[in-house]
Amino acid sequence: MALIVQKFGGSSVADAARVRNVAGIITDTYKKGNNVVVVVSAQGDTTDDLIEKAREISANPSKREMDMLLTSGEQISISLLAMAIAELGYPVISLLGWQAGFNTNSSYGSARIREIKTERLEKELDQKKIVIVAGFQGLNKYDDLTTLGRGGSDTSAVALAAALHADRCQIFTDVTGVFTADPRKVENTQKLADITYDEMLEFATLGAQVLNNRSVEMAKKYNVELEVLSSLVREPGTIVREVAKMEKMLIRGVTKDSDIARISVVGMKDIPGNAFKMFSRLAQKNINIDVILQSVGRDGTKDISFTCAAGYADEAVEILNDIFAMEGAVVSSDTSVAKVSIVGAGMQSHSGTASKMFGALYEAGINIGMISTSEITISVLIDKESADKAVSAVHKAFFG
Ligand code: ADP
Ligand code: ASP
Ligand code: MG
Repeated sequence: MALIVQKFGGSSVADAARVRNVAGIITDTYKKGNNVVVVVSAQGDTTDDLIEKAREISANPSKREMDMLLTSGEQISISLLAMAIAELGYPVISLLGWQAGFNTNSSYGSARIREIKTERLEKELDQKKIVIVAGFQGLNKYDDLTTLGRGGSDTSAVALAAALHADRCQIFTDVTGVFTADPRKVENTQKLADITYDEMLEFATLGAQVLNNRSVEMAKKYNVELEVLSSLVREPGTIVREVAKMEKMLIRGVTKDSDIARISVVGMKDIPGNAFKMFSRLAQKNINIDVILQSVGRDGTKDISFTCAAGYADEAVEILNDIFAMEGAVVSSDTSVAKVSIVGAGMQSHSGTASKMFGALYEAGINIGMISTSEITISVLIDKESADKAVSAVHKAFFG
């Protein structure tokens, strides 16, 4: 008998018919003699709708109250799913995050899981119940509800699979696996049979939202093999694991992130320590920075630009003005940019990957603003307006 963790995203439980469909998948797994623990997200666009409701009341609600609000979405879906499974005649119980033992730190809106106390879960499993757990949420040391950040149910599922030493962790969604690019936006995408943790982590971090990047990080840490598959079409999905079998591929995929800003500091003094001052102050405020470009110094001054998540742009500008305005530098932010990236371990052993990417962009008439590379990624900064065209052009160059 195996223990299987199955996670269903918002679109998989969007309405009554979808909830019944998911109940069918779960009970089919249970019928085969498996223990089944299920993690669900809020139905459809519920989380977005709740955020909108908050905006109607307050421009700047407290993060604690936001989490109090947002956790309600998953409470609806777990209870409805449990009812649907009970209708089919199977023993089932729904649990909120805290009932399932999810303890987190206190970072409302982006909490980290500290520990999962699995006693209650195990007791229910011992009684042969299917256990439905609310994803995306936990409880902090003040007994307050927290959420794990958008897309956090993936992380809830992986964490549960690790804590329970599950035999399998299946992430059900509205596409049949991880593709070479977003199959809803790009033509002729191919489904990957498998992908390594490192590649998937980069892919997710650089914009492929099919898996939340923290869930992949956790899967790698605890060696949880993930399967990404569809709740609507029953066919094998994509396996995320340490070593991928499809090693021939030069790159695994193309992705974009349009939710970024370019911050520029123009005319700072060309002296040692300025870059350090700049990035250490940003790090203190937990602002993650990405692509960095420094100009060649001239007339005793230099310029530094970098990218960060668009949501942090105003704060970054404020911090940098604080440091550099006195010396006459001009700080600005620009959110009309997007980052397009290719990901794949295969590029390590192949020269010409970058030139192939840049050639495709050139032929599509797209200008590159900044470039950054790692061992398994190449990213370029371009105009946001051209992002979709760029992804398609680069995808076509690599995958035909
Ligand atoms: P869920 O609600 O199940 O968590 P998400 O919307 O978070 O689903 O993630 C699934 C979506 O991810 C797909 O509908 C697809 O449009 C998008 N996506 C982006 N990039 C990729 C990719 N490379 N492969 C598969 N899906 C992708
Ligand atoms: N419902 C949450 C969100 O929309 C969590 C999730 O879907 O994973 O972000
Ligand atoms: Mg998701």
